[in-house]
Amino acid sequence: HPRVVVIGAGIVGCALADELTSRGWHDVTVLEQGPLFATGGSSSHAPGLVFATNPSPTMTAFANYTVAKFARLDLDDRRCFSAVGGLEVAATRQRLHDLERKRGLARSWGVRAQLVGPDECARMWPMLDSTRIRGGLYTPDDGLADAVRAGEAQARAAMARGAAFLDHHTVVGVERGGGRVRGVATDRGTFPADIVVSAAGFWGPAIGRMAGVEVPLLPMAHQYAYTAPIEGADPPPEPETVRPLLRHQDRDLYFREHGDRIGIGSYAHRPIPVHLEDVAEPGTDASAEMPSKLEFTAADFEPSWRDSVELLPALADSKVEEGFNGIFSFTPDGMPLLGESQRLRGFWLAEAVWVTHSAGAAKAVAEWMTEGRTSTDVHECDMHRFEDAQLTPAYVTDRGKQSFIEVYDVVHPMQPMQHPRPLRTSPFHQRQQEQGAFSLEGGGWERPHWYEANAPLVRPEDEAAVRDAWASRYHSPVVCAEARATREGVALYDMTPLKRLEVSGPGAMAFLQRMTTNQVDRRSGTVAYNLLLDPGGGVRSDLTVARLDDDMFQVAVSSNLDVDWLYTHLPDDGSVVLRETTAGTCCIGVWGPLARDLVQPLSGDDLSHEGFGFFKARRIRVGHVPVLALRVSYVGELGWELYTSADLGLRLWDTLWEAGRGLGAIAAGRGAFNSLRLEKGYRLAGTDMTTEHDPYEAGLGFAVRLDKGDFVGRDAAATAAEREPRRRLGCLTLDDPAHVVMGREPVLVGGRPAGYVTSAAYSTTLGRTIAYAWLPAEAAEPGTDVAVEYFGEPFAATVAAEPLVDPQMARIRR
Ligand code: FAD
Repeated sequence: HPRVVVIGAGIVGCALADELTSRGWHDVTVLEQGPLFATGGSSSHAPGLVFATNPSPTMTAFANYTVAKFARLDLDDRRCFSAVGGLEVAATRQRLHDLERKRGLARSWGVRAQLVGPDECARMWPMLDSTRIRGGLYTPDDGLADAVRAGEAQARAAMARGAAFLDHHTVVGVERGGGRVRGVATDRGTFPADIVVSAAGFWGPAIGRMAGVEVPLLPMAHQYAYTAPIEGADPPPEPETVRPLLRHQDRDLYFREHGDRIGIGSYAHRPIPVHLEDVAEPGTDASAEMPSKLEFTAADFEPSWRDSVELLPALADSKVEEGFNGIFSFTPDGMPLLGESQRLRGFWLAEAVWVTHSAGAAKAVAEWMTEGRTSTDVHECDMHRFEDAQLTPAYVTDRGKQSFIEVYDVVHPMQPMQHPRPLRTSPFHQRQQEQGAFSLEGGGWERPHWYEANAPLVRPEDEAAVRDAWASRYHSPVVCAEARATREGVALYDMTPLKRLEVSGPGAMAFLQRMTTNQVDRRSGTVAYNLLLDPGGGVRSDLTVARLDDDMFQVAVSSNLDVDWLYTHLPDDGSVVLRETTAGTCCIGVWGPLARDLVQPLSGDDLSHEGFGFFKARRIRVGHVPVLALRVSYVGELGWELYTSADLGLRLWDTLWEAGRGLGAIAAGRGAFNSLRLEKGYRLAGTDMTTEHDPYEAGLGFAVRLDKGDFVGRDAAATAAEREPRRRLGCLTLDDPAHVVMGREPVLVGGRPAGYVTSAAYSTTLGRTIAYAWLPAEAAEPGTDVAVEYFGEPFAATVAAEPLVDPQMARIRR
């Protein structure tokens, strides 16, 4: 087995050593600059609250695993976890309403959760002024982790299997050679290694610099304070805490007991970024014993103290006795950084992980290393999820601060970042602004969601769905009008942010055959829909492969993770060249029954169905612009994706726009796009299916050619093809046309949570909402009555045969 060096013996490094050694990788050395196991890092003073429920199923799974593992750990006959439960109180009507949604999330991911009234909250926390709150969400399985002892318990288990933990070893360099990591240098000698994992917490960027790897996290301080002993607090003996953990998110506060004192954590203060140069080096002076603890800035805490007294009036007789500004990591999207660097093979990150998720994240990294895949999907945590433009220090700082502010905010699933914007724009940006684009953001791109200029197309029925305040956000009836205009006329969609690669060279065909599921060896000028599987047969992503020439392909992928995955698997003989072309090019989707009427007059090329068939690719001219045209459609209509270089983009847009005037062509946004793709049953990788799902249960078996020869994930896919799926991605329609859901809601079968919604959108064509959902196989039969729980209310829904619109493909193939 490879020699592994882990940098950092915080909760993550300890958990990782345990998870690796328990999988048989015994040659693990953990290097720690501080003492063991109160090392001086964030874990040493984390109050250890574990709240499992999270909008992300991955994070919830990480937390569930951590809780289950910690509950089994003890150290010298003392427990490392107390399942005291969690209580989130709501002081505002908006928060109370949101707790209903949160309970829904808990039910979607299989966490026990229950809404309780103010009196019940006060019963659990007698100090609570129940008149200040409207209710709460009680989660009995949440609890309190003792991170230092849980770390040590896991470290001891690892040591028993051969791992070594070395204190007072400061890593000062990462040794490299031949594109691989070779070991680390410390102040006490070098340690050769085949794999180096940075589990250095908020010091991650410093280790990253040693390795030449960008680590997009921002160390920030977060305030934690202890009250003086509370009169009549009646401290319990063991466990240390008996009352549930308490969160008061309307004021960005949380509370736990410490004997007869209360600990208060606050996210209400200004963001306080910390420069690594200002963090004490361990061992240099007394304060450096706990380098992650900075001096308490009392003025920052004052409003939080007032809010605490308001919620817990008994605190009025107490005071803040001591406090500190504790440092930990914030990433641009609030998610961890996991995975192996594509730039430096063998160099891994396991960073920006809370105590809450520590064991689950460590398990995922250990599986990833030892088996090449994870049992829990980790695409949201993969270190390669960011685009280049999202790795600048300026971006990481701006976004890191925002993640701090949002820790306890009610964040809408569609809420875009506000700053820095606009960051990336397509060549059509100016025209989109002229059309009144309402844009959201994705991967740094401005992405028009609808265009106000289309408001005159709205019909009364477009407002038939009754949207509450939540579902109304980031929505306009114009979305419906744009969807209808696409089905009835023709619309221009900006597809520029869709990532694309040029794959070329004598080995290109064989490479793509090996990486993807469908037949790539087709005649030049043919497009194929494909999947990328992981070695266990799980769906990593989907992509379209256009063969432009014998040795030249254009590949459209979903995200940076696909690019990374393909790069990682490139043969090293130079026979394949992979080049990302997204930034220098652009793309317009021209779709709708009138698409041919729009484009043909602009081109001397034959665009008839006979001359340019479905799923074909050709280089044509549109007016003055040479384009690559792909006859594909994500919205299920006749039309093309037209690609050209960025310099010609505006000209292409204007040419199409001018020609479309007489046809009533419009520009349409992502809102319409999403609705139309669901009408056609086109899945969105990462949302509708992930590596946790095989292609057959996801309804994508048609894209897998088991007989084409070997490819990544083939054996596992062959096994999956043989078995009867236990669950399926099914298509639901909500019975009441007035009902709307957003995604991630639990699906109830026979009144019980049995699945969850992946994507949903109101369908203008059907006049009701479509929801794709994971369901037990027996419930996935068309006609089955189910319910989707939206803010606590069960909305009746029916499983439908899919696709709902144009199953014969008559609209596309003509
Ligand atoms: P650390 O514990 O920081 O470990 C990293 C280790 O790497 C350190 O021991 C460090 O000394 C070592 N190291 C760094 N550089 C080097 C080097 N060059 N050579 C050798 N060793 C090196 N999370 C929760 O889940 N619940 C909470 O309630 C909670 N509350 C928090 C409250 C506060 C005040 C703070 C600050 C954090 C809180 N967190 C909480 C977050 C949580 O503490 C951290 O996310 C978690 O502890 C990080 O663990 P880690 O192992 O990645 O990092």
